[in-house]
Amino acid sequence: MLNSQMVDFGRRSSTIRNFFEYGKKRRQIVGEENVFDFSLGNPSVPTPSAVTEALIDVLSHRSPIEIHGYTPSAGDIEAREAIAADISRRIGRKFCSRNIYLTCGAAASLASCIKAFLLDSSSEIIAIAPFFPEYISFVTGLGGVIKIVPPKVDDFQIDLPALEKLITSKTQAVIINSPNNPSGAVYTRKTLCGLSEILMRKSSQYRHAIYLLSDEPYRELVYDGLEVPFVPDIYPNTIICYSYSKSLSLPGERIGYMFVPDTVEDFDGVCWATSGAARVMGYVCAPALIQKAVALCASVPTDLESYDRNRRLLYGELTSMGYDCCHPDGAFYLFVKAPNGLSSVEFSELAKNEDLLLVPGDDFGCPGFLRISYCVSFEMIKRSIPTFRHLIEISGCPD
Ligand code: PLP
Repeated sequence: MLNSQMVDFGRRSSTIRNFFEYGKKRRQIVGEENVFDFSLGNPSVPTPSAVTEALIDVLSHRSPIEIHGYTPSAGDIEAREAIAADISRRIGRKFCSRNIYLTCGAAASLASCIKAFLLDSSSEIIAIAPFFPEYISFVTGLGGVIKIVPPKVDDFQIDLPALEKLITSKTQAVIINSPNNPSGAVYTRKTLCGLSEILMRKSSQYRHAIYLLSDEPYRELVYDGLEVPFVPDIYPNTIICYSYSKSLSLPGERIGYMFVPDTVEDFDGVCWATSGAARVMGYVCAPALIQKAVALCASVPTDLESYDRNRRLLYGELTSMGYDCCHPDGAFYLFVKAPNGLSSVEFSELAKNEDLLLVPGDDFGCPGFLRISYCVSFEMIKRSIPTFRHLIEISGCPD
């Protein structure tokens, strides 16, 4: 017998992947330059040379046994110390290796935290639309109940009264993601303070901590000098799930971490539960070579220039044509409303017929909108502009 829920997760491929595969096929048929694939969130900025140099340095100067051997379950102490030192420098407070557990990307961090907080099949975790679709797989696949706060489409901040209504005695954690995939919104300090006030009040009402999981793979991808607040300073029971997939363009290397600040209630318990969950799911000892490289590159800045250029071009052109877009303050996504009263799926199909690939917002919990991943070449965006114009024109015409 097989676990039918897992069969279902395995069989159902992601909408984003389907678009990407379709784009590959179309490129073979109509030519590379005639397909405008905005489907995938794969960084288009090359990995910084500092990372390549660090890898070469590690490979040249250490023994193969050391390079490729097991590390401690939580990761090499040097890497954890280097990451903690980088956070200490940025935040102005001392953190150390005990605050860091290295993982295979943010996905493993999130899954480990979620597993740590699910008590039984009635435990609830709240996510805020629009959200990274894998939250549903993680929470339901690990045996919990996910509840969704509807999107606040005027500014894509959090609908705090709606969130408060969803909290019950079963609520174990809330997941937030800012800068956000897919909206590109960055939660303001005001939003986070409002969220904190609700979580503190509800934690004391239900007499147990409601944890906040702050999913931050896009933390450094923020434009125009906007602030991305350090969430544990606003809500002490926060755990950060971080990844180098986007900031250092290393998605295939599978490296990230869980950061548990000393401020969390029952610090030791939280560290045991999250590391225990990582152990149970086999997420121990993140890839060793890249751990050692990250130890040398923890402070390497993210190269934002080309994403920023793409963002400005796309946002400027689309809004001047009449598209209604969420202002892209962070990450590398533009979230656009399907024009002329069409549904997101209808508009996405129309666009697909013109070889322009946009992912409908439905899987992100936000129907009516579409995600445009602008981690692509500037030239492709320039070539796609007439098609965006054509689409808004034809979508407004009766059949
Ligand atoms: N969280 C969000 C919001 C993401 O967009 C992604 C990847 O796209 C992840 C988590 C997973 O990141 P990783 O590749 O580090 O597992």
